[in-house]
Amino acid sequence: LQGVKFRNFSIIAHVDHGKSTLADRILESLGAMGERDKRDQTLDTLELERERGITIKSTPVRLKYTRPESVGEGAGEEYIFNLIDTPGHVDFGYEVSRSLAACEGVLLLVDASQGVEAQTIVNAYLAIDSGLEIIPVVNKIDLPAADPEGAAQEMEEVVGIPAEDAIFASGKTGAGIPEILEAIVQRIPAPSGSADAPLKALIFDSVYDAYQGVLLFVRVLEGKVSPKDRINLFSNGKNFEVDRLGTFSPGLIVGQSLEAGEVGWIAAGIRDIQDAQVGDTITRTDFPTTEPFPGFKPAQPVVFSGLYPTDTEDYRKLREALERLKLNDAAFSFEPETSEALGFGFRCGFLGLLHAEIVQERLEREFDLDLIATAPAVIYRLTMTDGEIIETQNPAQFPTRDRMEKVEEPYIKMSVMLPEEHVGAVMQLLQERRGSMVTMNYVGKRVELIYQVPFAEILYDFHDRLKSISRGYASMDYEIIDYREGDLRKVDIYVNNEIVDALAVVVHEDKAYSLGRKIVDKMSEVIPRQMWAVPVQAAIGGKIIARATVKAYRKDVLAKCYGGDISRKKKLLNKQKKGKARMKQIGTVEVPQEAFLAVLSTE
Ligand code: GDP
Ligand code: MG
Repeated sequence: LQGVKFRNFSIIAHVDHGKSTLADRILESLGAMGERDKRDQTLDTLELERERGITIKSTPVRLKYTRPESVGEGAGEEYIFNLIDTPGHVDFGYEVSRSLAACEGVLLLVDASQGVEAQTIVNAYLAIDSGLEIIPVVNKIDLPAADPEGAAQEMEEVVGIPAEDAIFASGKTGAGIPEILEAIVQRIPAPSGSADAPLKALIFDSVYDAYQGVLLFVRVLEGKVSPKDRINLFSNGKNFEVDRLGTFSPGLIVGQSLEAGEVGWIAAGIRDIQDAQVGDTITRTDFPTTEPFPGFKPAQPVVFSGLYPTDTEDYRKLREALERLKLNDAAFSFEPETSEALGFGFRCGFLGLLHAEIVQERLEREFDLDLIATAPAVIYRLTMTDGEIIETQNPAQFPTRDRMEKVEEPYIKMSVMLPEEHVGAVMQLLQERRGSMVTMNYVGKRVELIYQVPFAEILYDFHDRLKSISRGYASMDYEIIDYREGDLRKVDIYVNNEIVDALAVVVHEDKAYSLGRKIVDKMSEVIPRQMWAVPVQAAIGGKIIARATVKAYRKDVLAKCYGGDISRKKKLLNKQKKGKARMKQIGTVEVPQEAFLAVLSTE
């Protein structure tokens, strides 16, 4: 590799600020999209990513850049760029930090019409913490509402990057792309690290391939790796022999070796993605490094939910689907769970709410399953009266107060960015969610609020409420910081006088009554009317705290529905049989999916 000049970089931005579009424009201008179908946003691979406009899996790409005549001295020099795309959501924050660790620099994009947002700040600090060179890019300058100078000024104020360093660009028109390419050459340092040193390579992503097993996406920091080398994973000490390796273009290109400074993939007959965790370091058994790349954390689910097939016959199909998904997702966990109300299902663990939604959607879409999902819950740490410490993430199993000495729950540090005029309302919302303020910073006419909030408080409709009270202008980001004691209780829900374990929620004592009220009211709305009235109740330790009623059909309605028109009823039944009804029979009552998520509904 003597003489080859590399630049490894990533693009970071708040969601929707145009990262994928700009990446595509860069790919296109360097001819990487060639004969590939030029559909938009090549780097976003999953169908779901495209629909939701977010990036879940990072896909790196290797590009060749030849400096143009216009640069004068240095014209004609060739560079290899490795562009590493990062996931664009707070659920995947750790993966973002690992992708950044594979780079020497970043393009920090800010939408010229939006300015700095919560994820802009959080991502910028991740890049600063990794010691990366930051190239500020004000994007979407073609928009009529663009204020490029204002956005550059905000970057200077908030992140401390001089406004005059900013490049004005548009992923839509291609403006600023040549300047960006030159800035990558001139401002981002070349990778250091010697190819003669012991191998040290960082895994920044991994995917499962049916033929080759797990593919490791690596950044080689030091040393060299080739086929037939035995590699060792630091976190678990396991050994594998390298079958094939190579680079991305963006498809897989098979190569002879990967050396210090390079970004590529390795196939080593690894069957279990658990053995190939993001952030882990690999080395060579015949020439090992002593120190792994610092900061490895195994992926840990923090949000849990029960998933049950609406049709009990689908249990095996669900298990197989979960196993298939798990092949490609080390951060997702599942174990069998039984609910008295819902029967056999699985307790599933996710990195956050979005991750949970994505998994559920994929199960329904790709595996054609109809599911009931229970309300999301966090992990509670319980100190029992006998001194034993246990963790539980299933509200149904949350013990009564008298059996516990102490309950602790996870807290997050949250950053919210919003226009000044909404500060009062947002502070009130955070207060309601048991948040406490850490700091408040002014950024022009906008404000950044930093709060500490119990994680569980943002699982229920927080984001929707934040958006609605700020008319869509507030953005947020968060990270889990620690566990703190709280007065938490389990609220049980009864339908038709029977306790429904899968509907239990854990909530702070001060909110138990209002939440119980909200749940039973919502449930009484969404449960279809029966021929008789059905009571829905919320209770703490057997004591009823709220009650509502699903009213009975009126006679005339009944007649219409169940009277003469048999064929219509049959049709209806058939439709439900085909699925998509997402109902579960509990006793004599049909309970729809919305009822299980009543706690999430916005008041
Ligand atoms: P990402 O979430 O950061 O990857 O953002 P995307 O690249 O998916 O873009 C978000 C939205 O902004 C899409 O609707 C794009 O078409 C639009 N967009 C992206 N770049 C530009 C730009 O330079 N100008 C304009 N006018 N729209 C853009
Ligand atoms: Mg994107």
